[in-house]
Amino acid sequence: MEARDHLAHWRAQIFARILLVVVLLGALTAVPSVFLAASEGLWSVVVIDTGAMLWIAAIWRLKRLSYRVRAINFLAAAFIVGTGLLLKVGPVSQIYLMAVPVLTALLLGLRPALCALFASALAVLVIGYGATPGTELVGLPEQGLLKGVILAMNFLFITSVITLSCAVLLRHLERSLEELHKSAESLENGRNALQALNMELLATIQERDRSAEDIHQLAFYDHLTGLPNRRLLLDRIAGLLASSARNATLSAVLFIDLDRFKYINDARGHATGDALLKSAATRLLALVRKTDTVARIGGDEFVVLLAHVGANIEGATSTALRVAENVRRTLAEEFEIDGHAYTSSASIGVSLLPKEGQTADDLLREADTAMYRAKSLGRNSIAFFEDAMQADVERRLTMESQLATALDQGQLQMHFQPQFDSQGKATGAELLMRWPQADGSMVPPSVFIPLAEESGLIVRLGLWALREACHALRELAHGGHVLPLSVNVSPTQFRQPDFVQTVRQVLEETGAPAHLLILEVTEGLLVEKLDETIARMRELNAMGLRFSIDDFGTGYSSLAYLKKMPLYELKIDRSFIMDTPEDANDTAIVQSILAMAGHLGLRVVAEGVESREQSAFLSSHRCDAMQGYLFARPAPLAALLALLQADALAASA
Ligand code: C2E
Ligand code: CA
Ligand code: CA
Repeated sequence: MEARDHLAHWRAQIFARILLVVVLLGALTAVPSVFLAASEGLWSVVVIDTGAMLWIAAIWRLKRLSYRVRAINFLAAAFIVGTGLLLKVGPVSQIYLMAVPVLTALLLGLRPALCALFASALAVLVIGYGATPGTELVGLPEQGLLKGVILAMNFLFITSVITLSCAVLLRHLERSLEELHKSAESLENGRNALQALNMELLATIQERDRSAEDIHQLAFYDHLTGLPNRRLLLDRIAGLLASSARNATLSAVLFIDLDRFKYINDARGHATGDALLKSAATRLLALVRKTDTVARIGGDEFVVLLAHVGANIEGATSTALRVAENVRRTLAEEFEIDGHAYTSSASIGVSLLPKEGQTADDLLREADTAMYRAKSLGRNSIAFFEDAMQADVERRLTMESQLATALDQGQLQMHFQPQFDSQGKATGAELLMRWPQADGSMVPPSVFIPLAEESGLIVRLGLWALREACHALRELAHGGHVLPLSVNVSPTQFRQPDFVQTVRQVLEETGAPAHLLILEVTEGLLVEKLDETIARMRELNAMGLRFSIDDFGTGYSSLAYLKKMPLYELKIDRSFIMDTPEDANDTAIVQSILAMAGHLGLRVVAEGVESREQSAFLSSHRCDAMQGYLFARPAPLAALLALLQADALAASA
């Protein structure tokens, strides 16, 4: 609705009321006055009154006519009545004509009101001029222009004042209404805009909520398993450290590492690896209470935080151990992925909290250390953190740096352990590293090689071993001996991008014959990037080098892999030789390996031969070569040279 319409509305209302009042009062006054006029013979008054009454009644009733038509009719009736009465009754009736412009202003507006004012004033002027009988006024001439002008001027003055006041008032009212309407409209618009903005904001406070949720999820949860990540875990441990001190209760952290995950992931692909991790997460969640936390903090590393497991060390330890044992057993059960069964196991380190001055990081480190201890116990086991372990970690770190120094300062030695055929003839020798200490003792390679593997120093150590082998070949040749030498190559070393180039370079530098070098690799090398590995082996093989699979039987290589590789020999692991021929199982394994190697055309070396029985058994089963304390212990090159010299002398004798 518009402002104008608003005023029109009010005008219509006022008009309806005026009509009602006029009709009622008209009926009350005009009817007696008509009778009175009739009795007096004033027929013109009777006609005017009756006509006006009927006219007004018609306007009142005919509501279907437009407002404007009805208003104009009403005003015209008033004008005619006013004029008639002015003629008949005299100047006293001017009041009727005065009402006409005022009502016009009220009902139709300023312009029509001015017209009405003019018409009324003109009527007063003309009638005043015409001088009706009995209309004399005191002090005025009876008729003529002057009387008309005086009457008209008086009438005009007061009527203009009232009419204009009324019209101006209404015009202002109209403007105010218009402005009011406009501001109401703009308020409405503002309200709508605000509402829209509000909605938008609401959708944006929701979007932000969602992205905040996403960020939270990314920041604190592992995307694969949905478990809390390291950050959230550390937060929770910190919370527990604070509350445990307050509640005087102990909690426990289980650091869990899947033992065979890497093999499965590498050999079967990441989809299988991921599925395994998810299943492991599900199993872990099923084992703990709602108040506990299961987190994934690395590739195959999970942590279970057991809140408030006991009031004293004994209680907490036994509860933590019980849960750890459940975890170990559960994770050792077969996993079925895409219809295939996989077995893994877990090494678990356990640590309790709180301890004096212990932080969340300390605690996690302790549990991690204990986990490593569990791994070194042979995997699939549980170890509790003890302070001694921390010392062990520190000792290992010290040893790592000392090993690097020993390598740089040429303190490492190379020993040689010969291999013999069934006739007792030396057919080759394996190079084994030695790390002599200042006190004359030796750190065994079983201790320092894994350390070097972890720190990456193995790459430099391996290069040194390769050089030693090449130098030794030159010295052997110099002494007139042609004997192949075997060098251990760690998987890390073999996977160096420049490994082939390095070998070629060392051969060139030393002038050693490649065909007398045998590289011993373990089956662990074969689980990852098999095609790349085989291609690299072929390249080295083409250069003249030969390959031997070390510790054969302890890894996971399939016979299919063996067939694809350019292999020269297999070395049966010492663990199988140890109980041969007494143990039926081990003996069967040794026999099978020998038979299989025969079919594949591979030479076989038996490791760790310590007894004559072992030697006799192996010889009778056509084992190509034997290596072990029974024949010779690893010793410096001089010892090997002496042995070969003695052999040569014996042969020539
Ligand atoms: P491996 O390659 O299996 O070496 C054979 C190990 O068995 C050697 O231990 C050797 O001394 C030992 N052994 C030989 N005959 C007998 C026996 O009759 N009875 C017993 N009980 N043991 C015997 P070692 O020298 O302590 O070497 C341990 C391991 O260290 C090696 O196992 C090899 O994996 C690693 N290693 C040694 N030298 C090197 C090297 O230059 N490079 C790399 N990557 N690894 C090396
Ligand atoms: Ca070896
Ligand atoms: Ca071996």
